[in-house]
Amino acid sequence: MHIELTELLRCPEPHEQDPLVLSTGEMVGRMVRTGLVGCPVCHKEYPIVKGVVRFSGRGTRETGNVGGVGGTAPVSRFPSPADPQTIQALLDLSGPGGYVVLVGSATRHAEGLAGLMGGIHFVGTNPPPDAEELPVLSLVECATIVPLRQSIARGVVVGAELARAPWIAEAQRVLLRGRRLVIEDAGAALPDGVTKLAAGHGLLVGEKR
Ligand SMILES: [Zn+2]
Repeated sequence: MHIELTELLRCPEPHEQDPLVLSTGEMVGRMVRTGLVGCPVCHKEYPIVKGVVRFSGRGTRETGNVGGVGGTAPVSRFPSPADPQTIQALLDLSGPGGYVVLVGSATRHAEGLAGLMGGIHFVGTNPPPDAEELPVLSLVECATIVPLRQSIARGVVVGAELARAPWIAEAQRVLLRGRRLVIEDAGAALPDGVTKLAAGHGLLVGEKR
């Protein structure tokens, strides 16, 4: 995890959100390889192992539609043919700076997108098991939420396998207003507060109102 991501993390417990506190162990450059992230409200501690912040284990288990966010699993899913240029264009990313959140298998886009434009830091949430962090990519795992504060992302891409509750609503929550959400499942349901812009070729694009 990039050390500057600390201020954007949030505790997954349902309580008021105060900034989490980082205790660093091993560092490689600006990346924290081992350490602890502590919550000042509920006093839970979350380990950083091999660079990955582990809030509550891998989040790819089926959890059902708890929380009433209204998403339902689509009937069919197709492997996405999306290339980085397409994703960049759909996210309408221009200019450096800020954060882009990649959910699940969408984490694989980090290297390609970073090669197209510098100065953006990527956050992979519940990445595939073989994903490795990069100087431009921080990895976090959480079974219940995207463990980031509200309205911090310049763009969010959700992988097909997580194109359902609660992840789509979580993508909307962390996205900045006026910015784009891309879901790698053209048949997914957009969350409340997101206006549909386009769908096709296995992708669904919306903009947060
Ligand atoms: Zn907490």
